[in-house]
Order: sequence, then structure tokens, then C-alpha cells
Amino acid sequence: MKTATELARPNIAALKPYSSARDEYQGKDARVFLDANENPYNAPLNRYPDPLQRDVKAIVSEIKGVAASRIFLGNGSDEAIDLMFRIFCEPGRDNVVAMEPTYGMYRVCADINDVEYRAVNTDGSFQPDVDAMLGSADANTKLMFFCSPNNPSGNLVRRELIIKALDNFEGIVIIDEAYTDFAPGTSMAGLIDTYPNLVILQTFSKAWGLAGVRLGMAFAQEETIGLMNRVKYPYNVNHLTQQAALEQLESADKVSGWVSAIISERGRLENRLAGLGGMTVFPSDANFLLVRMENATRVYNYLVDNGIIVRNRSRITLCGDSLRITVGTPAEDDELLKCLTEYYNR
Ligand SMILES: *Cc1c(COP(=O)(O)O)cnc(C)c1O
Repeated sequence: MKTATELARPNIAALKPYSSARDEYQGKDARVFLDANENPYNAPLNRYPDPLQRDVKAIVSEIKGVAASRIFLGNGSDEAIDLMFRIFCEPGRDNVVAMEPTYGMYRVCADINDVEYRAVNTDGSFQPDVDAMLGSADANTKLMFFCSPNNPSGNLVRRELIIKALDNFEGIVIIDEAYTDFAPGTSMAGLIDTYPNLVILQTFSKAWGLAGVRLGMAFAQEETIGLMNRVKYPYNVNHLTQQAALEQLESADKVSGWVSAIISERGRLENRLAGLGGMTVFPSDANFLLVRMENATRVYNYLVDNGIIVRNRSRITLCGDSLRITVGTPAEDDELLKCLTEYYNR
């Protein structure tokens, strides 16, 4: 098995990263900062933020049970996804393999970086065909993407399928766990101890209620995290974002209350949608439901005309005639249900 450095593009493996003023200073009892050409007025926003976000990582480490040295924080998970391409994939030569359907950003990042994207269809219950994924990989395949719980289908990927990929793929396996908090106890982050080629992605955008501050997490062994830290912008997570994350991490009880409420509301919404007749609701371990119905686009347009926006996934592979509906507050979901009832009774 190749190491992360051996898998990386040669220019990245050889990169001498930018060394910022705050990188060189290592937390001694300094009082006077005349090193970074900052304005001495307007504290605290006059200062560059901690480039390695140590305070945030210390708490994330406790909550997630992952050593701080194995955590990367970025400007959304999207930054971590893009870094995977920039670190490991040689434009115009390398390729990646992903389960399909899944989150659209992997393909967009592949396209931006001129990396071939090999999508391999899941089965009818949206479980990846790992044998076919391994079969479509070749010597230039650097990344393999799984999303669990998967967007847009909502289901967890079976653990043994991902382990098969980890045991047999000679590149980096990425598991995007953006929705893991809605499927308690199912994170595969513990496997980074065993697998040097595993990268787990999580985010503050969903359960933590902080989509607006842009903060994503990656968990991996130190060698991979080190490559990410070299390639990222030096101050990729701003001070306001770090501050908001610290406050939310201190309110973890409030957040788990939200998560419980959303999980229970998911059950209610699922039953009510199924009760409308003519709708198939796919089982979900996330904070949304994929729902199949006749004329989904007409239903979508009817909802839009009534000020209710869901996500039309009808043109996505294996998701024909399907809408993806985020679980809202009970009041919001009641508005949706009322509107759908009107649609079917009109
Ligand atoms: C919402 C979502 C994310 C979150 O991305 P951020 O950039 O962290 O907001 C990541 N992965 C998947 C599959 C998602 O659905």
C-alpha cells in the first residue's frame, strides 16, 4: 500500500509551504505582536486568525474522539473535497471513482481540476456496487468517494462495503459523513486508526446549524492532514467562524436537542407523506427524505408557486420523479403537507 505522500502529486509532495508570521510563533508568553504588519487597533479582528485553529480542534477532538493532530478544518467540507483533488490528482491524467447518485460537488471539483470522474451506479436501495467501483479503478485512480448517509438518497452505506473498498483500493477512500449526527453511533471515523488511506468528512453545516459560517472537518492520519495543511490557504478559517464554532461546541446539549427533534420529526413527516398515497418515501438516516411520486416536476412547481421550495432530483441517476425534502420545523412541515394535500385534492 502506498503512503499518502507517495500517492500525492510529486509537486505537492515536494512543496515548501508558505510560512506565515503566526506559523513561526509557537504560543509562548508573548505580549507584543509586531510580526505580521497588522493594525494595532480594532481588536480582536485586527489580528490574523490561528492558521491551525487549535482551540476549535481541541474541543472537536474531545467530542469526536479523534486526536487534534488528525483533524483538518476548512472553509466548508467543500474545501476539503477540493484539496483532495489538488493534492492527489494530476490534471489531465488521473481519475476518481464515486458511487452514483451522490453529492454533486465531487463531480464539480473533478471537472474544475480536469480529473476524470467515474460514476458507478448503486443498486436499487442505493448501496454502492463496490466490486464494480474497484473494477472501474485503474493505476491512475487516486480517490474513491462514498457518502454515508448518502445525499440525495438518505441511507447509510453498509459498513462492510466500505471496508471492502478500504482493503482493496490502492488510493484514498473518502467517506463523506455530513449527515452522520442524524444516524447516531454510525460514524466510521474510528477506522482512521487502522487505515492510512481513509479520509472522513464531516461538517458544521447540518446538525450543528452553522451552514452560514462555513466550517468543515476532515479526519485522517497525520500524513494526510499534513498534506492538507500545506496546500490550504494559510488563514483558511477566519476568526468569526472559529468564534462561532467555539460557542456552538460549548452548547453541544442544545445541538443534540435539535438533532433529537429533527430525527423525531423525520419519522412524523415520513408517515404523513406515505399516508398521502402515491408516494414512495425512501428510508432515511439523514435530515431529509427522498420521495418518489408521479409527475414530481409538476408537484415541485406547484410547491414553488405556493412559496415552498424543495429539491427536485428527478434528473439525477436512479432518482427519476423524486423530490428531496429537508426536515423542517413541525410548523414548516405542516405547511408542506397542507400544500401537498391540496395538490392531490385539487
Ligand atoms: C451539505 C453537504 C456537505 C456540506 O458541505 P459544507 O461545504 O461543509 O457546507 C458535505 N457533503 C454532503 C454530502 C452534503 O450534503
